[in-house]
Amino acid sequence: MGERIFNFSAGPAVLPEPVLRQAQQDLWNLDGSGIGILEHSHRGKAFTKVIEEAESDCRALASIPAKYRVLFLQGGASLQFAMVPMNLLGKHANADYVITGSWAKKAADEAKMYGNVHIAGSSKPTNFDRIPPASDLHFSARPAYVHFTSNTTIFGTQWRSEPAVPVGAPLICDASSDIFSRPIDVSKYGLIYAGAQKNLGPSGVVLVIIRDDLLKSVREDIPTMMRYSIHAENNSLYNTPNTFGIYIMGQSFKWMLQQGGLAAVAEHNAAKAGVIYDFLDQSAFFKGTAQADSRSLMNICFRGPSEELETKFITEAKAAGLDGLKGHRSVGGMRASVYNAMPIEGCTRLVEFMKDFERANR
Ligand SMILES: *Cc1c(COP(=O)(O)O)cnc(C)c1O
Repeated sequence: MGERIFNFSAGPAVLPEPVLRQAQQDLWNLDGSGIGILEHSHRGKAFTKVIEEAESDCRALASIPAKYRVLFLQGGASLQFAMVPMNLLGKHANADYVITGSWAKKAADEAKMYGNVHIAGSSKPTNFDRIPPASDLHFSARPAYVHFTSNTTIFGTQWRSEPAVPVGAPLICDASSDIFSRPIDVSKYGLIYAGAQKNLGPSGVVLVIIRDDLLKSVREDIPTMMRYSIHAENNSLYNTPNTFGIYIMGQSFKWMLQQGGLAAVAEHNAAKAGVIYDFLDQSAFFKGTAQADSRSLMNICFRGPSEELETKFITEAKAAGLDGLKGHRSVGGMRASVYNAMPIEGCTRLVEFMKDFERANR
């Protein structure tokens, strides 16, 4: 088997090596059952153990209070853009959205199909280079909920802490690109969702953590598969779930627990991003694009002196075993995604490469 290289892709993204090695074994034969994980019935004993452990490890990892349900759904984060308003926004009700980038805008656009959307704040005027300060957020009087995106994958910004919202308004978070990258106080939220392919596992499967009182207000005039209450009643087994996706998420939870939990994971992530930002801050050649106080520890966006040199950088980096550094097609430049599973060696190798490239092309 060939050597692996450093993968800075924004998603699907790098997974922890021990998770992949365990998956190799379990693909062939899960737990001595003589049947691989892909081949087990979702109602059988072997998979029941997988999903139950995934839930309990997830709960332990994020100290999820008992009054929250943990669901493993399908359709990625994008289906949640629709499911959130479908379930929780009445026809004449109002929901507040904070727009920090393209994903947040997509979420708000879906909600407009179900009810009224109030934009409580936006960093569009500065090309999404920051998280709006609290003084720039203006919520409506009684929103059905407030939606924000904890980490802006495309522009490389991240909330330092949750926005303070009107009393009683459930806070809803798209945490797709920084879920479990740091400790999270779940009790501040009504609902958290995250597509798995950045920090947790393969694409397609999505983690949803929902406060149980919200299940009672779920609308009944929507398709069965779209109802949170149905998935909660059936423990995420209403239909055949993405069994492999749930299995890999479960293995990732175990790996994060072994790392020492979310506090240890956060410390490691801060050290990793620090290596790259420290270099960017002193370079006259490369330049970070996000405002310093809004920088993401997951997606580090930067530019070179010209588009030609950026293309050259991306090509040569790939040849040197550093892949996935091209920025999102909507913004250009470079982006280093350094999710939980990226080892610090990846960050130091990238900085060494950047130093050499700067010297050779100055
Ligand atoms: C990647 C991403 C999405 C889209 O996820 P899909 O699973 O492709 O639907 C949504 N929100 C954020 C913040 C993301 O990073």
